[in-house]
Amino acid sequence: MASSAPIYLDNHATTAVDPRVVAAMIPYLTEHFGNPASSGHAMGWFAKEAVELARDEVAAMVGASPKEIVFTSGATESTNLAILGAARANRHKGQHLITLATEHKATLDACAALEEEGFETTIVPVQASGIVDLEELARAIRPETLLISVLMANNEIGSLQPVAAIGALCRERGILFHTDVAQATGKVPVHAEALNADLISITAHKMHGPKGIGALYVRRGRPRVKISALIHGGGQERGLRSGTLATHQIVGLGKTCVYALEALENGEVQEMKDLRDRLWNALQEGIPGVQVNGSMANRLPNNLNISIPNVDSKALLMATRRVAVSSGSACASSTLTPSHVLQALGTSYTEQHTAIRFGVGRFNTEEEIDEVAALFTEKVAAIQAMEAEMGL
Ligand SMILES: *Cc1c(COP(=O)(O)O)cnc(C)c1O
Repeated sequence: MASSAPIYLDNHATTAVDPRVVAAMIPYLTEHFGNPASSGHAMGWFAKEAVELARDEVAAMVGASPKEIVFTSGATESTNLAILGAARANRHKGQHLITLATEHKATLDACAALEEEGFETTIVPVQASGIVDLEELARAIRPETLLISVLMANNEIGSLQPVAAIGALCRERGILFHTDVAQATGKVPVHAEALNADLISITAHKMHGPKGIGALYVRRGRPRVKISALIHGGGQERGLRSGTLATHQIVGLGKTCVYALEALENGEVQEMKDLRDRLWNALQEGIPGVQVNGSMANRLPNNLNISIPNVDSKALLMATRRVAVSSGSACASSTLTPSHVLQALGTSYTEQHTAIRFGVGRFNTEEEIDEVAALFTEKVAAIQAMEAEMGL
């Protein structure tokens, strides 16, 4: 091994903040610390101007108008605001929600919380590929269906759902459509109009921005979407999200969105995909029987999720500690319950307990990928040899 510096391939859990983003944020922590709501002096105006520029940048990333962007603390809050907010403000139209078995916990738990308020949720299964069958989704629709929420790109297996088609289905029937694009931005095009989306959850820290900042897109026209607030107070963000705006975080989110949009054009996405494919090819060569979870088609360009026969993922991660990757999803792996996403694919108990998730990011290199493939190949062989010796 060339060096012992850690190699970070857990970019679905979080990402390194781009140094250009850090540089843009710092002045708003030092000299430009005014409150954007202070309308009586220049320090407030300066901060407000920075916030509004960032709002333009976030809006541009998803083809929206800046008036449609509400700043939040991240995708968890955005999704809660979208689902709880839309359901509570529109319950006279119906109290039925639809989502998928492979959704992020933010969505599943927000829907579950609404059940206590009299709403009902249908959780539609996915196919072995990880993708929902559109006809099955359509069959779940009832006259009282108010909202459908579908994750654009899954955070464990990278599946890309047919969100534009789902959005069209919703639009035709007057159902609100929410999509969480936390993993998708900077990897695949995300356009509010093309997706027929009414509500879109965005977060900075999955695309080389800071943690603790995100946004919710709320459609303002054709049709205008009504949601109610979760956080009450000073009336910031048109009353939809009170609390002093975190200027430095918002500036960081804005720049993060600028670079995410650029990544779709400047070859960065292709580079990530090439690295992911290089890793997958090398692992297939080195590890007999290795299999991919989910389908390689309709998948994020930077995601790989594999299962290795008879090699417990926790044991393997201990042996490959230099490399930061996850077994299952980061959230699920602190508990010992297998990932609900892998379960929804119909994988076996063994496949769930031998799953490893790799996520390539902006700063990974070919050398790192080659080192990781070699290290995993070596350690898998060692664990399997030990198991054979013990007669397992
Ligand atoms: C990380 C993630 C979230 C949570 O975002 P936070 O900004 O950490 O709250 C939600 N959805 C998906 C798909 C994610 O990957």
